[in-house]
Amino acid sequence: MSKLAIHGGTPVRTKDFAEWPIFDQLEEKLLLQALRSGKWGGTGQANSPEFNNLIEQFERDFAELHQAKYAVSCVNGTIAITAALQAADVKPGDEVIMPPYTFIATASAALAYGAIPVFVDIEENTLQIDPDAVERAITPRTKAIVAVHIAGAPARMDRLLDIASRHDLRLIEDSAQAVGASFAGRPVGAIGDVGTFSFQSSKNLNCGEGGVIVTNDPEIWEKAWSVCNVGRIPNGAWYQHERIGQNYRLTELQAAILLAQMTRLEQQMAVREKNAALLDQLLSRNEAFRVVQATEGTTRHAYHLYMLRIAPNAADYIEKNDFIRKINAEGIPISYGYVPLHQNSAILDSIEQWTGERREYSCPVCERLCQREALWLHQTVMLGDEQAMHDIADALDKVASSYR
Ligand SMILES: *Cc1c(COP(=O)(O)O)cnc(C)c1O
Repeated sequence: MSKLAIHGGTPVRTKDFAEWPIFDQLEEKLLLQALRSGKWGGTGQANSPEFNNLIEQFERDFAELHQAKYAVSCVNGTIAITAALQAADVKPGDEVIMPPYTFIATASAALAYGAIPVFVDIEENTLQIDPDAVERAITPRTKAIVAVHIAGAPARMDRLLDIASRHDLRLIEDSAQAVGASFAGRPVGAIGDVGTFSFQSSKNLNCGEGGVIVTNDPEIWEKAWSVCNVGRIPNGAWYQHERIGQNYRLTELQAAILLAQMTRLEQQMAVREKNAALLDQLLSRNEAFRVVQATEGTTRHAYHLYMLRIAPNAADYIEKNDFIRKINAEGIPISYGYVPLHQNSAILDSIEQWTGERREYSCPVCERLCQREALWLHQTVMLGDEQAMHDIADALDKVASSYR
């Protein structure tokens, strides 16, 4: 057995993975076009009819990509969730069921205005929100479910749609990690009542910072637009404000980058899918690991993350943090991933401030997977070449076998 890099052995890999972000003359051309148009922000007109409105064009193209009737662009994926919840009529004090295995923004977007997150456990094999746990957590105060398509794999949308309709709840899709993903042939985002995406730097579609809300419901679209446009209404007068909204608008410069980035999405998705299939195959040979399954019904996985698990019995002798340090030393940027949100004291404090009660949540599957099993490779790593995938699998095999 070869000596581990952490103990002075030769690392499996010394080469970098793919670069990020990726751009070329198209971004440069569209950015210059936005600059010269004189319309830099989210309102007003270009100073000459030769320039098109890039925000409008982006919203049209993105809505089409996700088979939604409407898209409202905004400053980021967190605000997109807040605006989507408000547009779906979720009021302060209303309970919103969500998974604890997600970025903090899913919960903080609700808590920003006093909607109350209720955390339910995830499924062991997929790490997605568990529909049975959702159903058990419904109370008379429940108003909505937030399905998070974690890693870029869809949550179990058929079951969640059914639960939402039987209990008259709104279904919101936090699709920040899932641009291009689909469930039963339908792109995520507008399968439920309303969905949101993020274009923050690390996301698969990136303009530095940015977000979008998609829906098929004209009423939700109008409210989301209004929340993001200081309470104005579409086609209303400039100083006509029908509700309290904020200025959450995207800029033309960001839309320019997004339009260019969208032209590469399909090709990048194909690379990640091919690499993920290879990794699935390489990892399934080693009993120390479990491949994380996509939800049954998944027709496309966006692989914002490639998630894998240390097998439950292997986790008795492979300590997660120790394992990560050893893999990193082999030149593979594997990461720890989320810590359970339902145990985050800032969130529990905020819930207490809004409700006056200290809540406790028990999500044992999430806790165990976070502490012992779940590992991540980021989407940029998944843009690497075939050799990169072999290096990842070799490093995992090498380090795992060192524990025996
Ligand atoms: C990135 C992310 C967000 C927040 O998006 P920002 O653009 O960073 O505000 C929300 N939810 C999930 C699941 C995310 O991954």
